[in-house]
Amino acid sequence: MVSRIIPVAPFDLVIFGGTGDLAQRKILPALFRRHCAGQLPGSEWIIGAARAGLSCADYRNIVATALREHCGPRGVDDAELTSFLSRVSYVALDGMGTQGWEELAAQLRPSAEVPVRLFYFSVGPALFAPLAERLHSHGLTNGDTRIVVEKPFGRDLQTAKALNRTLASHFDEGQIYRIDHYLGKETVQNLMAVRFGNMLFEPLWNSQYVDHIQITVAETVGIEGREDYYERSGAMRDMMQNHLMQLLCLIAMEPPAKFDPDAVRDEKLKVIRALDPVEPHHIVRGQYQARQAAEGGAQAHPSYRDTVGNPRSRTESYVALKAHISNWRWAGTPFYLRTGKRLVARSSVINVMFKDAPHSIFGAEAGRHANHLKIRLQPNEGITLSVTIKEPGQGGMRLIDVPLDMSFAEALGEEGGTPPDAYERLIMDVVRGDQTLFMRGDEVEAAWAWTDPIIAGWEARGDVPKPYDSGSTGPGDADLLMRRDGREWRGINP
Ligand code: NAD
Repeated sequence: MVSRIIPVAPFDLVIFGGTGDLAQRKILPALFRRHCAGQLPGSEWIIGAARAGLSCADYRNIVATALREHCGPRGVDDAELTSFLSRVSYVALDGMGTQGWEELAAQLRPSAEVPVRLFYFSVGPALFAPLAERLHSHGLTNGDTRIVVEKPFGRDLQTAKALNRTLASHFDEGQIYRIDHYLGKETVQNLMAVRFGNMLFEPLWNSQYVDHIQITVAETVGIEGREDYYERSGAMRDMMQNHLMQLLCLIAMEPPAKFDPDAVRDEKLKVIRALDPVEPHHIVRGQYQARQAAEGGAQAHPSYRDTVGNPRSRTESYVALKAHISNWRWAGTPFYLRTGKRLVARSSVINVMFKDAPHSIFGAEAGRHANHLKIRLQPNEGITLSVTIKEPGQGGMRLIDVPLDMSFAEALGEEGGTPPDAYERLIMDVVRGDQTLFMRGDEVEAAWAWTDPIIAGWEARGDVPKPYDSGSTGPGDADLLMRRDGREWRGINP
């Protein structure tokens, strides 16, 4: 099944940080794929803006190399590349200073000609406020201007509030797109479609029928290349406060009255505000250990502490916690969330574990069987519902669980079976002016208000993360967190 491509309106897009890692790996490839899919209007103008003194030709070479490297199995068609590059230019600019701004102004087309102007802040967070101020003071914004702000959005409630205030002094909330690429994943949006488009699930989506929910975002990579940032951040700030919190909101929120940006975000906000403070004994922090090279090809990795060069580092590369949402729907249903680096597999999954049937007519020997809905965000986006059936054959009434499996790549994929990358979808949403999948300022602040006391508690207690082996499923204490409640984590599988 091939999805419909609806071309977007003409736009000028400035990528601040256009030579950076994110621009090269994600933003430019996303734009190129949308160009190849016929979604860009052909009159777009994409301006890379960064500190390096490059000519436009130099920058186009950088972009061409990045696209060849990062466009994946679909590859790069030379004619498409030439036509895409003809829409790309560059400005050497200092986001903290005065250099380059006049030239940027000269490259933007008049608002009367191309009203939609996007400024993508793909730079470190210290530049977010200076860029917003300079865009304003150089008169580069108009009513149709949108800014895209990358994570991290603050490092606590106070800094997030200050950043929101600065942005709000130059832009309306409707112009600010705080991006969380998890929300652009096909499955995440399908979560809403599955919940609110079917009669099947919603009546069961509450504490009466759901035993508990597990959200896992596991990575195999370490923190190489981001040591300074990560050492000041840790898994709680880097992943839990934003990505996992957003997934929790979508799985737990009430049905919005309509699929409209503020209606959806109002409901997400209510979830965050209904979260109880987390008890210290309901959180496990971990830090990965070194791994020796092993037979079978397993690579050696340094420990977290060696990677950051701090033998006494207390920053967590793993966190697992049990959360409770105090409202009518979820009272009594725990949500177990975990995320970590250097784990056994790369896998982002939500598991909705339903309760056992109230009475088994098949007797004790049939075993206990509960339905389980597994929502895979990556890799292999899709949804599996486990259903209990009779084991085939003559062995009597023995029960087994079988998966009803839907892989989105097969069911919905475009061009050879790969669904669009999250950045493709989200950037097109910005061009269209649709904020549904972007975080509102009050959501981000509420998430920090929940996270801050947890981090403050660790700091006050001098909490030291538990060591865990690289390539494992995390610290043993995270298993205990579940076992104390008579439950088990689902496996972390690729
Ligand atoms: P990077 O260090 O690779 O690139 C930074 C870019 O900013 C470069 O183009 C650099 O020239 C530019 N820059 C730095 N100082 C500047 C100045 N004074 N004026 C103008 N330009 C300046 O960083 P990155 O990895 O591309 O990350 C960019 C942002 O995106 C960060 O906020 C990061 O947290 C966020 N982010 C990155 C990733 C990722 O995978 N790389 C993922 C999610 C979020």
